[in-house]
Amino acid sequence: MQPALFLSHGSPMLVLEPCPARDFLRGLGQTLPRPDAIIVASAHWQTAAPTLGSAENPPTIHDFYGFPQALFRITYPAPGAPALAARAAELLAASGLPAQLDPARGLDHGVWAPLILAWPQADIPVVPIALQHGQGPDFDGPAHHAALGAALAPLRADNILLLGSGSFTHDLRSLDRRGTDAPPDPITEAFSSWMDTNLRANDRAALLDYRARAPDAARLHPTDEHLLPLFFAAGAGGAATRIHSSSTYGSLRMDAYSFA
Ligand code: ZN
Repeated sequence: MQPALFLSHGSPMLVLEPCPARDFLRGLGQTLPRPDAIIVASAHWQTAAPTLGSAENPPTIHDFYGFPQALFRITYPAPGAPALAARAAELLAASGLPAQLDPARGLDHGVWAPLILAWPQADIPVVPIALQHGQGPDFDGPAHHAALGAALAPLRADNILLLGSGSFTHDLRSLDRRGTDAPPDPITEAFSSWMDTNLRANDRAALLDYRARAPDAARLHPTDEHLLPLFFAAGAGGAATRIHSSSTYGSLRMDAYSFA
């Protein structure tokens, strides 16, 4: 049985700049049982309705600007898994979440940045799944994304890793330009502590209402697309365990969770 994971991908520079989160991700592939395939919900793919990428060979997407050329040269040539994408769409439909397949979708940096550190051989098939941030009352918010994960939970027993890739906090306006090792913004620590307490207690009511209840939630997630992958993973898995905790640039928490 695979766990479901939430990983923080932080800045695109994660793959180039040494930091504790990068060290953690580089060790992850050795500490987990090797999955047969990985379904990734990235903060960087939003669609109007549930959608899975079904490309045979998904291209690497460089969806950022103003970064060093070295980042634009990176490719992550993992194969796709069209049959798994179709099976996942069936599971979603059976849960009342009709889903589409997108045979052209590639892997954005929310997908490939953590994967290239954890599984650099790029030999495990990858299926991206889109989020529906900002798509209105039927889809928006934590509850919908937890439902997406819950619908796919049976795949964990088939050795499929379900992965949410976002950022535990994502306050880009307060980045500390001294670098990855800038001291953590204390506000992010209060938020992280609140989230950790409620994740461990599995207090779903509190978590789904995090924007109203967690300290400074709206400042640390001005829009919540980078936290929605956490709800995807939590919905797909069981008891929460924090498997990494650190920060980069002061205001980006890089915490990671396993839901087993
Ligand atoms: Zn991101």
